[in-house]
Amino acid sequence: MRPWIIVGGGACGAVIAARGTENGNLPVTLLEAGPDYPIDLPKDLKDGRRNSIHRHDWGYHHTPTTGQRIPFIFPRGRVMGGSSAVNTCIAVRGRPYDYDEWELPDWTFDKCLPAFKRLENDLDVRDDWHGDSGPITIRRHTRGELVPWQAAFMDACSEHGLPACDDHNHPSKWGWGPHAMNKVGGERVSVARGYLTRTVRKRDNLQLRPDTLVRRVLFENKAVIGVEVERAGCIERVLSDRVILCGGSINTLGILLRSGIGPRDRVQALGVELVADSASVGEKLLDHHGSALFFLPKPGVVKFDDPLIQTAYRYSGDSRPYPLDMQIQAGSVLYFPWVTVPLVSIMTQVGKPRGHGTIEYKSADVRHKPRIHTRALEDAEDRTAAITSMRLAYEISQRSPMRDMALMIWPRPKTLSSDAAHDWIRGACDSGYHPCGTAPMGKAVDSRGRVKGVRGLWVADMSIVPTVPSANTHLTAIMIGERFGEWLRDGGLD
Ligand SMILES: Cc1cc2nc3c(=O)[nH]c(=O)nc-3n(C[C@H](O)[C@H](O)[C@H](O)COP(=O)(O)OP(=O)(O)OC[C@H]3O[C@@H](n4cnc5c(N)ncnc54)[C@H](O)[C@@H]3O)c2cc1C
Repeated sequence: MRPWIIVGGGACGAVIAARGTENGNLPVTLLEAGPDYPIDLPKDLKDGRRNSIHRHDWGYHHTPTTGQRIPFIFPRGRVMGGSSAVNTCIAVRGRPYDYDEWELPDWTFDKCLPAFKRLENDLDVRDDWHGDSGPITIRRHTRGELVPWQAAFMDACSEHGLPACDDHNHPSKWGWGPHAMNKVGGERVSVARGYLTRTVRKRDNLQLRPDTLVRRVLFENKAVIGVEVERAGCIERVLSDRVILCGGSINTLGILLRSGIGPRDRVQALGVELVADSASVGEKLLDHHGSALFFLPKPGVVKFDDPLIQTAYRYSGDSRPYPLDMQIQAGSVLYFPWVTVPLVSIMTQVGKPRGHGTIEYKSADVRHKPRIHTRALEDAEDRTAAITSMRLAYEISQRSPMRDMALMIWPRPKTLSSDAAHDWIRGACDSGYHPCGTAPMGKAVDSRGRVKGVRGLWVADMSIVPTVPSANTHLTAIMIGERFGEWLRDGGLD
């Protein structure tokens, strides 16, 4: 039996490989472009206090939006574990409506909940919503572990009369409180650590092939026959009639287009022969969009090794159509090349933006970097939601616990309270690093990830979500991996 090929060992792919190979009769080969560290994990991958954005990264940028002059970085993990291995460790689920609104019987919140529970070992909360024996350990910082700026954020929210929340992953609780995070003792618990354990790696039916860059999927008469890869400078074919793409929302799109799947004009513009004409491949790039207020902290408030984020306030914005989609977080320590001292911040995130971006691939060369247009906060309603949130963040920052620690230096309070806020925020917004939706279920793929118009090809990563969940995307990605892994193991993908 030829192995199933999984392309990309990230938050979805590593999980599918681990769960799928629980069936000892099912051979799986996992191809990952980045390195693998089964024993000595480099410091940046271990360090859960902040994200790693350079050492194990694809080196992407997004183009400036209106009001911006320079491209911003758009990090994506290039390593076994993918972006799960480099991220900020915020482990929050979407709200039930985030999954119900996909209107796919396989993906209602009730159907997803067992996978959310299965993936986690929540050390703090024992109730019907949580799991206690999954591969990803989740906990919340105790009061004593909070750095001063984070503790002050919670105190300031309280002083502002906002409600407290002890569990951001409860389906209906909201307010301020410690973030649920997948780190223990300051170390990141990525899918590479949680799922690709020593025991799993010993399985005879699992082959991990790191440092293997997949160029494209190969077809004969619209049926998959394998993939073309680049490894140590050589191009080779890995044959199989079943391939699951888990390269993440940017790279999976590139692989599809280079393989001849996508809108006819976009595929042909690359000089690639069309295999399946699919208008919804790459039609939209969904993401969260954020912005920040920056503060100069008093001496002693910030230490170099403080964790970036520990707490959040999650709430419903005024007249927002989506309940509880807004998020405000304190950022404890930020370094900029043009400022000699570390700054602190308060960040906001619009969880359900109306606007969306696009990704342009201008070449079929696998080394070509796509042009990513986030179009962050280009939509006027999204911008209003973000500005209203920034104004609330400012009010919180002016409560004594935070005001006594730091002085706001950007923007000027006057800018924030005036119409000028619209221009300011256009220049000051950025991606939340949560790209998704580039090959949505119900359009580009069916509800089990099967790519329409061909045989033997699946997509199973954040590309397939039809709408962006209101929360940060890591746990949703692992949940997707859990569901596909289970289907693969039990014969439900064929
Ligand atoms: C810096 C950063 C911080 C983040 N912080 C958070 C956070 O705190 N909380 C949160 O919820 N979310 C966070 N995220 C987002 C979260 O990590 C992602 O939503 C999630 O990892 C996406 O899962 P995925 O499987 O779709 O893609 P990924 O996890 O990115 O996995 C894709 C994998 O495919 C591999 N690959 C791609 N192309 C190829 C190819 N051609 N050949 C072979 N392999 C390939 C990649 O190297 C990678 O390993 C963050 C992301 C980043 C980058």
